[in-house]
Amino acid sequence: MEFYTEKQRKIKVVANVDVLVAGSGPAGFGAAIAAGRMGMKTLIVEQGGCIGGMSTSGLMSHFTGTVDCPLYREVIKRQAETEGREPKEYINPEILQLVYLKMLREANVEIMLYTFVSDVIMENDAVKGVIIESKSGRQAIFAKRIVDGTGDGDIAAKSGAEFFIGRESDGKMQPVTLMFKVGGVDYSRAVFPHSFESLVETAKGELQSLAHKNLTPPMGHVLLYPTYTPGVVTCNMTNYIDANGTNVEDITKSKIACQLQITEIIQFLHKYAPGYEKCYLLETAQQMGIRETRHFMGEKTLTENDITEAREFDDWIVKGAHFNFDVHNLTGSGLDKTGAQDKFTQKKGYTIPYGCIIPKGVENLLLSGRNISGTHMAHSNYRAMPICMALGYSAGIAAALSVKNACTVRAVDVKEIQKNYCEL
Ligand SMILES: Cc1cc2nc3c(=O)[nH]c(=O)nc-3n(C[C@H](O)[C@H](O)[C@H](O)COP(=O)(O)OP(=O)(O)OC[C@H]3O[C@@H](n4cnc5c(N)ncnc54)[C@H](O)[C@@H]3O)c2cc1C
Repeated sequence: MEFYTEKQRKIKVVANVDVLVAGSGPAGFGAAIAAGRMGMKTLIVEQGGCIGGMSTSGLMSHFTGTVDCPLYREVIKRQAETEGREPKEYINPEILQLVYLKMLREANVEIMLYTFVSDVIMENDAVKGVIIESKSGRQAIFAKRIVDGTGDGDIAAKSGAEFFIGRESDGKMQPVTLMFKVGGVDYSRAVFPHSFESLVETAKGELQSLAHKNLTPPMGHVLLYPTYTPGVVTCNMTNYIDANGTNVEDITKSKIACQLQITEIIQFLHKYAPGYEKCYLLETAQQMGIRETRHFMGEKTLTENDITEAREFDDWIVKGAHFNFDVHNLTGSGLDKTGAQDKFTQKKGYTIPYGCIIPKGVENLLLSGRNISGTHMAHSNYRAMPICMALGYSAGIAAALSVKNACTVRAVDVKEIQKNYCEL
């Protein structure tokens, strides 16, 4: 491989803030709202053209699972009010973007779109700022505390925080998916299999089996979700395995492969899915759907047992979290043999301790969302967007408290995080 040594150069420092949030998915949004509401000079930097990450530019169908978090309830309520409907977990990505924007404005959060955080500015083991790349060139931002809401943990990785990728045994990651929407669906007859375990009998046979038999692997399952727009359905059916979401070649390859799968999927729906005989492609997601990449080593690590036993940690920063083990087949279509969706039996919510968002060996930085410290199995559960939002919310609160009290993030009093989590 050839290498090129960049010349040293002076770059503009374009901001100096209390709390910088990198990435604006459910986690980054939650962090920015919390820090802003706590009076911090807060800036959120997003590589894409809108706020929301997978929840908006990923063309997501719905918030799945749940969490006991006032911010999550507020988002659901405000989305419903804006759209003039009852508060439900279904997402209209356009409306949700507006809700996020309004809430960030109200919290006095500065927003920088179309800007990629490409590197970190370190002083020993402390992150002092970041390098950004955009249409305006290469620039620097300094921040007292940084929350990594990039999903993949780009900031933590650059700062040298230790991580492993994917499944512990072999590094394999959950498959990736490009979400898309179809229009022209006859809702009076349409079927909506919401999980791999939801079986739909049709005149031609059971739909999941038909997909397994008729779609080219690694496609082979049917996940269809209703929307509030007449005749429009969100499809979670493209599938690409063995892609590393932190490698641009893999992201490009998988995006193209998934996009090309859509024609075959629509032909399948025409032929086999009741109500979809005349459906047509309406929209594909801007953001590639990456389920799993880096798991960072935190002061604590959430495990599968913590979830199945619904452990109540005294130092919780997320509570009432509930979802299932949504492990997609790592080598093909459908559910992995370690996964459990409708058959998941634990009904009680679990908690996540503060240590899971504190990366080992790095100062001034907090993890959030799907990049926190957790095992492959635990991740398949807390990666649900409501839980990611709550994780970000607490990370933002912790960052703000650490600035206010002039202490390290490790020294923040967890009881103060909990108080703000409930009352902010
Ligand atoms: C195909 C698919 C379907 C899913 N279905 C559901 C579902 O139905 N319901 C549900 O609740 N969850 C679902 N999930 C899980 C959920 O979407 C994610 O786990 C969750 O969005 C993670 O939140 P996050 O904020 O950590 O990351 P993301 O939502 O991925 O947001 C990360 C943000 O950071 C930005 N970013 C990344 N790197 C940089 C950088 N270096 N600089 C600047 N910005 C950066 C990205 O553009 C993005 O906006 C699904 C996931 C996938 C992939």
